[in-house]
Amino acid sequence: MNMATHSPSNLDVGLTWRNSFAQLGGDFYTCLSPQPLPAPYWVGRSRSLASELGLHESWLASAELLEAVSGNRPIAGTQALASVYSGHQFGMWAGQLGDGRAILLGETSSGLEVQLKGAGRTPYSRMGDGRAVLRSSIREFLCSEAMQGLGIPTSRALCVTGSDAPIRRETIETAAVVTRTAPSFVRFGHFEHFSHREQPVQLKALADYVIDRFYPECRTGDKFAGNPYAALLEAVNERTAEMVAQWQAVGFCHGVMNTDNMSILGLTIDYGPFQFLDAFNPGHICNHSDEQGRYAFNKQPNIAYWNLFCLGQALLPLIGEQELAIAALESYKSVFPAALEKLMRAKLGLVDGYGDTAADDRVLIEDILKLLAKDRVDYTIFWRRLSHSSSGTNTQSVRDLFLDRTAADAWLLRYSERLAHIPRGLAADLMLKTNPKFVLRNHLGEQAIKAAKLKDFSQVDTLLTLLESPFDEHPGFDEFADFPPDWAASIEISCSS
Ligand code: AMP
Ligand code: MG
Repeated sequence: MNMATHSPSNLDVGLTWRNSFAQLGGDFYTCLSPQPLPAPYWVGRSRSLASELGLHESWLASAELLEAVSGNRPIAGTQALASVYSGHQFGMWAGQLGDGRAILLGETSSGLEVQLKGAGRTPYSRMGDGRAVLRSSIREFLCSEAMQGLGIPTSRALCVTGSDAPIRRETIETAAVVTRTAPSFVRFGHFEHFSHREQPVQLKALADYVIDRFYPECRTGDKFAGNPYAALLEAVNERTAEMVAQWQAVGFCHGVMNTDNMSILGLTIDYGPFQFLDAFNPGHICNHSDEQGRYAFNKQPNIAYWNLFCLGQALLPLIGEQELAIAALESYKSVFPAALEKLMRAKLGLVDGYGDTAADDRVLIEDILKLLAKDRVDYTIFWRRLSHSSSGTNTQSVRDLFLDRTAADAWLLRYSERLAHIPRGLAADLMLKTNPKFVLRNHLGEQAIKAAKLKDFSQVDTLLTLLESPFDEHPGFDEFADFPPDWAASIEISCSS
């Protein structure tokens, strides 16, 4: 595992590094070096994230950084480690997992931690090879940046580097490394790990670390009788509710909501078999390995709540009283629906303060979702066309999306009556900022991956540009906002990555 240092000196990329997580001590991780990636090449890079990290553009173009983020050359000041966690997978306790192929380098002065995903085996790799394939790495890279563009809390991705080194999955593929960032990669599963092992000292150290760094307000509030751990549970619960509401509104299906894939910061993490819905099917299952449909699109809100219960269970030794833990989880039932309703109202351009009739608006939302589901209308195209129609153009093009035109007309009439209370420009503005023109549909990712396998990375770059600002029109790129081709329905995305 310690094979990384063939370079004479560590590369200094002009960043100041710390590794706060490392201060938790050896019970939480294993120090190790990434495994070199043979003859790496660039696949994709995010200039916007580079600038957020404080990484100068010239570094992003350099051969030295290419080697460094491929695990072939250590970066000065970093302290590489793989952390240990456990978790519930598909509803069952899975025992110890951990960073089986992601290596944390530390955090830069931007406050963002940097991980290399696919950088080789770790003590937590179990049967895995520690690698990630090009296909899934491009998907994670693009989707992270797409979520960021959509304003949905997410880990981010600085770059992907590829190699011709063969990797065995269902077929032989090639290796890649994603350089990803987040303020923290701590998962629900980290807490479950120490709780399940009955290690209260470590459990408390982890909770204190997370509170001090990310949730300091949990120490000052007087709710929960000044119990900071109950306050932490409530705060995570509320962030998670807000995040899942955003997933539901935009039509994002995560695919593997295991507790080890749930961020303690309420970020979308661990992009695997995710999918943005094409045709609206509430019960859509995007993960081909998910035979029971546990993680179907419409089950995500309840699954998140189930996962929060696991977190609550794990924190119980710190919280003390079960009643407090239950009380801390209670707000999910109000925060989630309120957040979703707010987002759905924005999708419809229902600006608050103009002829509000909350109950009627709720029915308007429910009814359109029923119609979209009945006719399997394309979710993204519907909302974007509706956004344009609200300013009085293209009403026909919305109607054309439905098989049942009579039902669509009846709804559109009710909607136009409701919209009449709202100044036209206001509604259209809100809708065009809420309903994206571009999402990372499976077939778009698939086409970019196909080209990338032939060393043409231009589509990865084009998609990145479109998805970074998905609410802009990007004239000339309409084909990327079009209906999926027929073959898209046969794309099978599994857990294999
Ligand atoms: P995931 O479903 O990708 O979130 O992964 C679940 C667990 O399996 C985590 O502990 C991962 O680190 C680990 N894992 C997944 N793929 C690999 C791999 N190719 N090599 C080593 N560990 C892996
Ligand atoms: Mg994972």
